[in-house]
Amino acid sequence: AKLKEGLTKTRQNFVGKVEEVFTGRKKIDEELYEELEEVLITSDVGVNTSFELVERLRKEVKQRKISDPNELTGVLQELIAELLGEETGIAFAKQGPSIILVVGVNGVGKTTTIGKLANWLKKDGKRVLLAAGDTFRAAAIDQLEVWGERSGAEVIKQREGADPAAVAYDAVQAAKSRNVDVVIVDTAGRLHNKVNLMEELRKVKRVMEREIPGAPHEVLLVLDATTGQNALQQAKLFQEVAGVTGIVLTKLDGTAKGGVVIGIQGETRIPVKWIGIGEGMEDLRPFVPEDFAAALFG
Ligand code: GDP
Repeated sequence: AKLKEGLTKTRQNFVGKVEEVFTGRKKIDEELYEELEEVLITSDVGVNTSFELVERLRKEVKQRKISDPNELTGVLQELIAELLGEETGIAFAKQGPSIILVVGVNGVGKTTTIGKLANWLKKDGKRVLLAAGDTFRAAAIDQLEVWGERSGAEVIKQREGADPAAVAYDAVQAAKSRNVDVVIVDTAGRLHNKVNLMEELRKVKRVMEREIPGAPHEVLLVLDATTGQNALQQAKLFQEVAGVTGIVLTKLDGTAKGGVVIGIQGETRIPVKWIGIGEGMEDLRPFVPEDFAAALFG
C-alpha cells in the first residue's frame, strides 16, 4: 500500500497523461504514437526508451490486431513491466564477508540508504559492518555512526580527511576477524572532478579486491528520483566510472518523476534493486518490477 501511495503523483502525472492520449480517440493512428512518445519523454522516461516503447507498442498492436485505443493502457503496462525486467536480489559472496560498495552524489540519500540496508540485512540475521569511506565530510562520518547505532551495525571509521582506501582496508580486516557477513562501504559523493572520483573509487576497490577475492560483490549506485533527468545522467556517468551492478532509487514517495525508473532501466540496463519510499528505517523495499508497474498504473 505504501508503494502505491508513494507513487500517487507519478501515477497522476505519467499514467494520467498517457490515458489522455488514448481515451477519446476513435482509432490508433500516427498522431497517437507521436503524442505518446512526447508524453513519455516529458515523463522522464528518456528519449531512447520512449522511442523503444512506442516501437514495441506498434508491433503489439499489429500482432494482436488491436484497433481500440482504450486497450492500449494495458498493453503499455505489460511492455513497461517487461522492460523493467526480473527482480534481482543482492549478490552475496559464496564464502566469507560480502562487500557492498555504495556510490552516488551528495544529498541523494546515500547515508540513509546504507542505514536502511543495514537494518534490512540485520533483520535477515546477518552481521553487518559499516565503513565510513566518505572521509571528506566530518558530518558524513557522524551520520553513518548514527545509522549504525539505529540499525545495530558496527561502524569502522577514521578521522576526517583520512584515505578512504585505508578505511576500506580496516573494514575488511575487521570483517574477517569478527566474522561479519556484510560490509557496506560508504564513499564520497563529490562530482566536481570525474578523474579524482574515478581514482578514489578504483583505489578503494583495489584494496578490497586484494583482501577478498571477488570483492566488491556489489557496487550500488544511489539516485534521487526527484531529480528526474539528472538521475539518468548520473547513472550513465557512474556506470562508466564505477562499474555499477545495481541501483537504489530514493525519494520515490511524493515525487511526480517516478517515470525515471523506466528511463534508467531502458538506457543503462543496470537493474534497480531497491527503492526508497520514505525517510524511516523501514522505508526501503526490494524493487519488484511487476509490482512497480502495477502500482504505477494503479
Ligand atoms: P547523502 O548526502 O547522499 O548521504 O544523503 P542523506 O542520506 O543524508 O539524505 C538526504 C536527505 O534525503 C535526508 O533528509 C533524508 O532523510 C532524505 N531521504 C533519503 N532517502 C529518502 C526517501 O526514500 N524518501 C524521502 N522522502 N526522503 C529520503
